[in-house]
Amino acid sequence: MDRIKDFFSTFLLIELLKGMAVTGRYMFARKITIQFPEERTPMSPRFRGLHALRRYPNGEERCIACKLCETICPALAINIELAQRDDGSRRTTRYDIDLTKCIFCGFCEESCPVDAIVETRIFDYHGESRGDLLYTKDKLLAVGDKNEEQIAKDKAADARYR
Ligand code: SF4
Ligand code: SF4
Repeated sequence: MDRIKDFFSTFLLIELLKGMAVTGRYMFARKITIQFPEERTPMSPRFRGLHALRRYPNGEERCIACKLCETICPALAINIELAQRDDGSRRTTRYDIDLTKCIFCGFCEESCPVDAIVETRIFDYHGESRGDLLYTKDKLLAVGDKNEEQIAKDKAADARYR
């Protein structure tokens, strides 16, 4: 019986017509494909993308070299060295994140007492060699400087939940 059904299905192109029906249905449905990178999908203020180091409005680095982020990082991706200034404050002399190790868990951001290290909305970056994905302090500060407006907005949007 099944073989007869199969024969008539094949003969009458039933499967093809079913496929065409699906195509026809989606032809008039709301389109969900977007034209990346010109168009972007909505994104949460908590999105965990490329890291950035932030400054205060006067240009001073926020990071006080407490090393909490380095300690909590489960992937051991962060390396910090520090020195004390003449005024007694501590600042990093080296702050590296190895993005080939990072699992983008966000623990570094959560642990930071001064909102210095953050994860931005940037996800479309790449490296052509392993070294390109070693983000040094200068690179992280540059990301922070360039995106501070968006970072500050995202922090403000999330402030009531932290
Ligand atoms: S996001 Fe997680 S894995 Fe990546 S540097 Fe921060 S703490 Fe480490
Ligand atoms: S980024 Fe934040 S948690 Fe990490 S060393 Fe600096 S102040 Fe401490």
